[in-house]
Amino acid sequence: MESLKLTKAFGAQAADARLDLLNIQRRNPIPHDVEIEILYCGVCHSDLHTARNEWHGTVYPCVPGHEIVGKIVRVGSHVNKFKIGDLAAVGCMVDSCRECEYCKEGLEQYCELGNTGTYNSPDKHLGTRTYGGYSESIVVDESFVLRVPENLDLAAVAPLLCAGITTYSPLKHWNIGPGKRIGVVGIGGLGHMAVKIAKAMGAEVIVFTTSASKFEDARRLGADDVVLSTDNEQMAKYASKLHFVLDAVSAAHDINSYLRLLRVDGSLALVGAPEHPLPVAAFSLIPSRRSFAGSMIGGIAETQEMLDFCGAHQIVADIEMIDIDQINEAYERLLKGDVKYRFVIDMASLRK
Ligand code: NAP
Ligand code: ZN
Ligand code: ZN
Repeated sequence: MESLKLTKAFGAQAADARLDLLNIQRRNPIPHDVEIEILYCGVCHSDLHTARNEWHGTVYPCVPGHEIVGKIVRVGSHVNKFKIGDLAAVGCMVDSCRECEYCKEGLEQYCELGNTGTYNSPDKHLGTRTYGGYSESIVVDESFVLRVPENLDLAAVAPLLCAGITTYSPLKHWNIGPGKRIGVVGIGGLGHMAVKIAKAMGAEVIVFTTSASKFEDARRLGADDVVLSTDNEQMAKYASKLHFVLDAVSAAHDINSYLRLLRVDGSLALVGAPEHPLPVAAFSLIPSRRSFAGSMIGGIAETQEMLDFCGAHQIVADIEMIDIDQINEAYERLLKGDVKYRFVIDMASLRK
């Protein structure tokens, strides 16, 4: 049994409870571990889905947070990638089996035994659940810890660890680049990163939003055109015109109206994970040999590649900084689509 350290955190004790201060146990670093003092943590809509048990399977207490950046404060005896004082980041996974065919290919997110999520996963070391980034520190095996580009604003880097990689990975997988016209649906944390990254990859990007208030921003983020998705006339302009659609919507919506935007052989990749199933009409797919796909975060090497890409292209998230005691209010605003475009918690507010 490993030795433990009492650690301050913020989390939920039940699906209908407000997040509040609580204490958790972290292991002290074992040979390949680093301990990171968390400086900033992004607020992903998945944190809300999980805290409120919308995907079922949440074990309480639940400490969300998987967009973590901070500073290395302790290293285990065998750590060679990091030293005390280095900046470091942790995303959505802290471990995987490391032996299955997917892990060997760098697709740890699709590990046959299931990856160990940064929160609400069985903790292999302590037998409890893993606890995420809404806490003062975290202990992670160095193989699952990322390097942070030094030229970017650290707080605005945090959202890259989930929103960045979750959009970068499918854009790469579907070979998005020059000559491709793509749609991004839902301009929240993920969607706004998708626009920035797809533009940097050289694609033509059309934004589909339910919020007229986001039109100007969509252009500023780099979109070539913006469509109000509730307006059928505006939607008709892009019928059968897109090579690819990335759907980052967090709630129920009509997926068919986006499938119909695809050209022959076009693909729609769903990254948004609404609580309830989305009905798909056969004739949204059949007539143009369209594909309806999904994608989950990205592997560790790919996450590092994405961070380096963002460093080279000066890409960070547009953030609104909050203190930890504003998290419940931030969740309510997320539900209203009222965030431009990612809340990031200043974790110094937990240490006060
Ligand atoms: P977010 O910041 O809350 O953004 C979601 C956006 O969806 C909103 O800004 C809004 O955009 C649109 N939207 C919300 N409710 C809607 C409704 N009822 N009808 C139509 N559009 C609506 O959320 P996020 O953090 O980007 O996450 C988005 C989703 O991706 C969540 O379900 C999250 O759990 C999931 N996710 C999946 C992965 C993965 O690996 N696949 C990783 C991270 C997150 P507009 O105002 O522009 O319409
Ligand atoms: Zn996330
Ligand atoms: Zn595996």
